[in-house]
Amino acid sequence: MESISVFDILKIGVGPSSSHTMGPWRAAQRFLDRCIASNDFAKITSITVHLFGSLAKTGKGHGTDFAVMMGLSGQDPVTCDVAQLPEIEKDIRARRTLSLRGSREIPFDPATQIRFHVTQVLPYHPNALTFEATLADNSKIAETYYSVGGGFIVQEEQTDAEHRQRVRLPFPIEKSAELERYCQEQNATIPQIVMRNELTWRTHDQVREGLLHIWRVMRECIYRGCHTAGTLPGGLNVSRRAARLNHQLLGIAFSHEGDKLGATVPIVNETNVSTWMRAVRRDGQSTLAHTFQDTLKWVSTFALAVNEENAAFGRVVTAPTNGAAGVIPSVMMYAACFMQATDDQIIDFMLTAGEIGSLFKKGATISAAMGGCQAEIGVSSAMAAAGLAQMMGASPGQVLQAAEIAMEHHLGMTCDPIAGLVQIPCIERNTMGAIKAITAANIAIESDPTQAKVTLDGVIKTMWETAKDMKSKYKETAEGGLAINISVNVSEC
Ligand code: SF4
Repeated sequence: MESISVFDILKIGVGPSSSHTMGPWRAAQRFLDRCIASNDFAKITSITVHLFGSLAKTGKGHGTDFAVMMGLSGQDPVTCDVAQLPEIEKDIRARRTLSLRGSREIPFDPATQIRFHVTQVLPYHPNALTFEATLADNSKIAETYYSVGGGFIVQEEQTDAEHRQRVRLPFPIEKSAELERYCQEQNATIPQIVMRNELTWRTHDQVREGLLHIWRVMRECIYRGCHTAGTLPGGLNVSRRAARLNHQLLGIAFSHEGDKLGATVPIVNETNVSTWMRAVRRDGQSTLAHTFQDTLKWVSTFALAVNEENAAFGRVVTAPTNGAAGVIPSVMMYAACFMQATDDQIIDFMLTAGEIGSLFKKGATISAAMGGCQAEIGVSSAMAAAGLAQMMGASPGQVLQAAEIAMEHHLGMTCDPIAGLVQIPCIERNTMGAIKAITAANIAIESDPTQAKVTLDGVIKTMWETAKDMKSKYKETAEGGLAINISVNVSEC
């Protein structure tokens, strides 16, 4: 049985794709780690990267070539200065030279040394890449990795489950029914059970601090997206909308200096984020309560903000993927701004959401290349629904029902990104996932889960069977759906 931590499901990273950016980035880092371990690193004279399947078909739009270069250059997606990355890429392309791990330069021409094998699919998973290094004595070493969704990577001949089963948890969970049974037996909530499992890897304080840090990165991402106007990269000329909506919703009376539309580079710090959140809440302005429509618009604005940042290669939290990175932060920000969620409630939200994500990963997939968009937006919506229901005081059965309801209404959703970019329909889909999550949580908390006809385990099984039946053109290949029916003029993809 796989042992998955909430920190495996919610990870700090860089846009635009967990499977096509984060996974290949991590694979490049791991390949160099392996070269160092075998004492080959100093002997490397050149590296060629081969991309297969979905990585080849949508890798350009999803930034796979960029990610590979960043990983080989020694940049870390969690700690790197995101603003510096375009310069590093530009320098590699201009000088056809790459500084391996930032320590020794080798010739590297991305145009010829990153190869897109669009007609080849490797057997284990549609997202495969091989790193091939030539050493000083002309011998070669090669390793193949699979990016299996959500930034997870595995190596050839090592299944994901094999990779992750080393840790034995006090409450091993494969199915939601087991999780519910533990809650009953232990007279505990879902986040209490999940926390006890997390203690296998970290102390209680480390889990709390780690989750609150992730929440801080989410808030900063929303703030940055709400204060950055302009056009997204990639050639589709998609205009950012979150900044305009933010400005409209705040109105003149609530704007502060940082909220002026068109402020080029927002200053992102805790003070500005907190001030802005108070303005969103209309603190001290009780006579001007939000209308229902305004609240809905805010939820959408939060989600748009994250996914515009994601599309712009910004810093996001993979939750459980990058394409769907806006759903969970949007619902959390809704809870923080409009339900006055405390830190403890936010932590419970994240522990619950993380466990739901891991149930989908174990029982189905969180990879769009395997399951279409139901595996991204659908799973993130189910996670957010469960987290919000938990925060609202739902019973374990109601929490699981919230996740079930949210996924039930995403079943069959295909992945069809126009021009292979994580922009259309991806950005708006996050708004829909967030709204559905809020609706699902509110239905669940008014329902008796013992009367539910569909269980979470049942919907996970259904999602996986639907994924297997889905034609490959609807699985992150940009060969079906909107990707082929909408005529666009892509100027620089
Ligand atoms: S269509 Fe959905 S699954 Fe596909 S890239 Fe966009 S958000 Fe991800």
